[in-house]
Amino acid sequence: MLECTCGWKGDDKEAAFVPVCPDCLTGHIKTFRILKRRDGKLQCPRCAWMGDPEEALREPECPKCANPYLKKV
Ligand SMILES: [Zn+2]
Ligand SMILES: [Zn+2]
Repeated sequence: MLECTCGWKGDDKEAAFVPVCPDCLTGHIKTFRILKRRDGKLQCPRCAWMGDPEEALREPECPKCANPYLKKV
């Protein structure tokens, strides 16, 4: 189970998984998400990283408030 400071609690799989850049770890900030290109690849808005979706890290966020710092309970 994961727990967020906003009160949300749920299974790991209920969390919202977002793609995160494997090079600079950008991806959790709402205005700075990993970009999905039209050719299906992902691109980091901060560094030059570009790759297939499976090359990006997937990290959980609270589905309610998008907080990436979830506590395991
Ligand atoms: Zn990056
Ligand atoms: Zn939350």
